[in-house]
Amino acid sequence: MPPVELKTDAALGVAIPSRNARGRIARLGPVIDAVLANHDYPPLIERLLAEALTLTALLGSLLKEAEGQLTLQAQTEGGAIDLMVCDYLGGELRGYIRHDAGKLAELPPEPTLKQLFGDGYLAITFDQPVAKERYQGIVPLEGKNLGEAAQSYFAQSEQIPSLVRLATEKRGDHWLAGGLLLQHLPEGEEGRDRLHTRLDHPDWPHVAILGGSVKGAELTDPDLPLDDLIWRLFHEEEEVRTLAGVQLSRGCRCDADYVRSVIARFPAEEREAMVGDDGLIRVDCAFCSSSFPIEPEAL
Ligand SMILES: [Zn+2]
Repeated sequence: MPPVELKTDAALGVAIPSRNARGRIARLGPVIDAVLANHDYPPLIERLLAEALTLTALLGSLLKEAEGQLTLQAQTEGGAIDLMVCDYLGGELRGYIRHDAGKLAELPPEPTLKQLFGDGYLAITFDQPVAKERYQGIVPLEGKNLGEAAQSYFAQSEQIPSLVRLATEKRGDHWLAGGLLLQHLPEGEEGRDRLHTRLDHPDWPHVAILGGSVKGAELTDPDLPLDDLIWRLFHEEEEVRTLAGVQLSRGCRCDADYVRSVIARFPAEEREAMVGDDGLIRVDCAFCSSSFPIEPEAL
């Protein structure tokens, strides 16, 4: 495989061994435009989905298995948005948001998560089928943005000192987004099993200050390679390691056979009600807007 170009649509693993810190940095460009191209979202929803896809890329690229899937799903009530789903599988990202245009129009230009989602939470599901590991974390949708919500979730619920920064920018017709995730994980620690955690470990504030100094404009700059940015932030550290880069792309996994099998499970009278004027049942993929026409007699 050719080396991954570390400018846009890429994620890179980072480790600072002497500080017991690890994490991911990611930048998305064309992949966001590709996801958004299938929808006609207002700017606020486009920005939120760009941010959510970036968080999905950061968390998804933490998965050890190539077959691993990471899903973000917002469950909400009473806000302008009632559903948001993003997922990651093998570097492929997809996502969509369902919203109420009327409620959205009443929001201020920079709404809080509470204003966007009402009472809601974000379910983060890590699924690693080979190891048969499935884990779900529940993140309250509180704070200024998804990065802030994810950071307080890791610190409070997972007891992992963490830094999460997300930034988005629209240049002309094109979106750019970037994110940095850093976590304090004591030596030898893998996954979620922890013997103990020292939230007051002196190495962590140091890493958090350096990582926290990253600017939004640096995270979104498509001309600044991710490894150069890591070097800019941490060049005074004894040792900084980067792992193999991951190429990100838009991908959808909807398929006609699966859609048919779902429709076939509905009772006959309900299927009948789905038939359109052209005599077909039409199902659209919520992620990519692909349309699947089904002949009812063939089910
Ligand atoms: Zn699809």
